[in-house]
Amino acid sequence: MTAVPATQPDLSVPDRNAQSLLDIQAEIESNARTYPRRLPIAIAEATGSVVTDVDGRTYIDFLSGAGVLALGHNHPELVAAVRDQLGLITHGLDFPTPVRAEFARRQLGMLPPGLRDRMKIHFCGPTGADGVEAAVKLCKKATGRGGVVAFQGSYHGSTQGALSLTSETAPKDGLHNLLPGVHFTPFGYCHRCPVGLTPDTCSVNCARVLANTLADTHGGVSKPAAIIMELVQGEGGSIPAPAKFVHRIADIAAEHDIPLIIDEVQTGCGRTGTWFAFEPYGIEPDVIVASKGLSGLGLPVSIILYRDHLDTWAPGSHIGTFRGNNLAFASGNAYLTVLHRDNLLANVRDRGDQLLTGLIGMQQASPLIADVRGRGLMLGIELAGHAGAGAGEVARRVQRAALRRGLILELGGREDCVVRLLPPLNVTAEVTADALAIIGVALDTVEAELAEAVR
Ligand code: PMP
Repeated sequence: MTAVPATQPDLSVPDRNAQSLLDIQAEIESNARTYPRRLPIAIAEATGSVVTDVDGRTYIDFLSGAGVLALGHNHPELVAAVRDQLGLITHGLDFPTPVRAEFARRQLGMLPPGLRDRMKIHFCGPTGADGVEAAVKLCKKATGRGGVVAFQGSYHGSTQGALSLTSETAPKDGLHNLLPGVHFTPFGYCHRCPVGLTPDTCSVNCARVLANTLADTHGGVSKPAAIIMELVQGEGGSIPAPAKFVHRIADIAAEHDIPLIIDEVQTGCGRTGTWFAFEPYGIEPDVIVASKGLSGLGLPVSIILYRDHLDTWAPGSHIGTFRGNNLAFASGNAYLTVLHRDNLLANVRDRGDQLLTGLIGMQQASPLIADVRGRGLMLGIELAGHAGAGAGEVARRVQRAALRRGLILELGGREDCVVRLLPPLNVTAEVTADALAIIGVALDTVEAELAEAVR
């Protein structure tokens, strides 16, 4: 696939069939719908990193189902594994089945040696938020405590417990009686340092705020049941946690005997270049939540992996009808086979480097880019306000200008000022180069548009 030249039709304006489906959706579906508002496309089919809309237009998909489609759309080997499973059993509650047993064994086997023998697996309801809910319940039950520490900039889901742990205030406005006892503490977001220091000194100080709060008899926060954190804040704007910050948080958790939950819903399953994002930090989480990429194909499944001493809940303590998606297990097993055979994690790191290098080059040439960051294939471009337009508006314009040329990108972060890149983990160097070319043109276009507007 080659980048669509600017003279091609404007792909950000839906054609007839797409417009009709978007209109019907707007009429009958919830006002809470999100993606088609800024990305007005209606998809007919998709393969790999390319989606084709209902009018036959093609787009490079760097949204990948919000990071779910580890191997892109409809990977043939995963589809075949699901087809084979379809005739055997699809839904199995929590009864053991061969694919479930294989999935559980292989998921535990993906943990670093030394940790894998001390961890158990629990299958949750199908979403990431279900996994987060289960993790928090597990820690509350095991510690007999009630509070949870979460981080500014966090996103953990939309159910009421997970939303309580999510830092953005707007989705909580007008929603009373969410989970009590949640305490938000600064995250090492060095580009916008929460305590106003320089990058080298700041991240340890962010952790120190939590250490002091917990140690202070007048700090206002009782010892919590858990600390929950992302190692690259995804929806928060693709912000990798600095290593010193993470080490200090892990130490605080250990010193106070507080279980540390690492939410790997978005970072996990290869997205950041290792199977789990915690691995290069050298920390040992007490609970890991994984979901999005597990099946590799976008089939719903969610798990928590946790230290066996936390396994204090009674039979039936945490149940749910959809804990037995055998199609997702079959696909997930095939995904791991492909991951090992094709050395996929190396591709994640190589394509991540290719993107970062390209984006850093653009940063040097463009006044629109304030920061470029990320890990593996979970990257973000934080935009700067320019020529009277705020950073959020600049990001929306860049997203739209990229879509016009056939590249689907996501936004996140404060004021949605970060353009996020979540390509499939098997994306090729060629498609990556095409995407970079489109981003470069989009930046130039927006700069010219804004210059024109102030003229
Ligand atoms: N945790 C993190 C880190 C996430 O990024 C998300 C989803 N973006 C969730 C939890 C919630 O997952 P779900 O939307 O499947 O409930």
